[in-house]
Amino acid sequence: MAAVHPKLIESLVEQTPRAMIAMLIVSSAYFWIFIKFIPFEILVVWFVFQMFLAMYRFYNAIMFKKHLAQKAHEKIEKNELYFMLSNVFQAAMWTISSVLSIVYAPQPYELVSLIMIIGIITAAALSMSSLYKAYLLFFFSMIIPQIIIMISFGEHQHIGLVVLIFIYIPATILLSRAIYNSRLSSVEANDSLEKSVNELHRLSIMDNLTNIYNRRYFFEMSKKLIATAFREQKPVSLIMLDIDLFKRVNDNYGHQAGDCILIDLVKELEKVMRKSDVFARIGGEEFTILLNNTSLEGAKVIAEKMRLTIENKVFIYNTTSIDITISIGVSELNTENTSIEDLYKQADKQLYRAKHKGRNRVCT
Ligand code: GH3
Ligand code: MG
Ligand code: MG
Repeated sequence: MAAVHPKLIESLVEQTPRAMIAMLIVSSAYFWIFIKFIPFEILVVWFVFQMFLAMYRFYNAIMFKKHLAQKAHEKIEKNELYFMLSNVFQAAMWTISSVLSIVYAPQPYELVSLIMIIGIITAAALSMSSLYKAYLLFFFSMIIPQIIIMISFGEHQHIGLVVLIFIYIPATILLSRAIYNSRLSSVEANDSLEKSVNELHRLSIMDNLTNIYNRRYFFEMSKKLIATAFREQKPVSLIMLDIDLFKRVNDNYGHQAGDCILIDLVKELEKVMRKSDVFARIGGEEFTILLNNTSLEGAKVIAEKMRLTIENKVFIYNTTSIDITISIGVSELNTENTSIEDLYKQADKQLYRAKHKGRNRVCT
């Protein structure tokens, strides 16, 4: 059984209260119209079953909601099956109502029951088409017994009704199919819009090449983290690193080799980091890492580990081995450096020192 789109099931759940109120009104109307003809006990039993079915439909909708929230696909499919079974039961109740009116009520009261049934399946096209196969099952469970009843017990004017039913059947099925298609396409359009929004958001905060945060998002995020760190009196440090003599790599092996190294370098550095660290590419071959809950001493250890990792790593591009090193500047949040801009300036200064001192080193 192909899975039904969760949003279509959501729409079915949304329709439930309205559908059930309509069902109660129609059942009550049937009760009051036929109370004169059908024995009271039989009518009460019939009505109680209808109430039970209405309550079950509410319960079924609640279960759909719960399983949708848990994304429990198997349970959703099982609930669909229960929903369909309850509809067959519902159709059987309306078939009984038709039989009762034919047995007990004089002409033309039996037609009232048929008209009610036609009304119910037309209204159900609105409330149930999201689960199209369930609607089809309900439709035929309602209409086939009616045709049989009309042909078996009906007088000659019922043949006219059978003709009406034959025109009505394709028209209603087409209507229900059209409702289903329009709901499905609106759900799919919504999905694709949601995807585009998510992708746009991702593009606005991530670096395209290395798939880590970009400069803009780094500053935005760092401001928030620093504000929290100040409030909680927790240390924060910043590591800024730059690849040494990267221009030469591009010149010797080509720009594409340079790009591959940037991607691999990010992967290597990520191995040394914690999940809570904010890692960003802030320039061509410059990266920053904001370390939460980390003092200057701790950051220095991590920076040294990063430097060694890159020094020892042999980067391979098209079977060519390329060695690179990085220089690192480290700064810490303190009474002098109170903002991300201060931290950045200080780390940049230290990075400049590292370059000046001969590269492939950490300065704090
Ligand atoms: P230094 O040790 O002083 O940092 O030397 P450097 O050559 O790395 O420094 P510089 O800032 O002069 O040059 C950085 C080079 O990085 C320039 C450019 O060729 C290269 N670069 C910047 N962004 C990219 C990129 O996205 N891809 C590639 N392949 N190279 C880049
Ligand atoms: Mg460089
Ligand atoms: Mg640079």
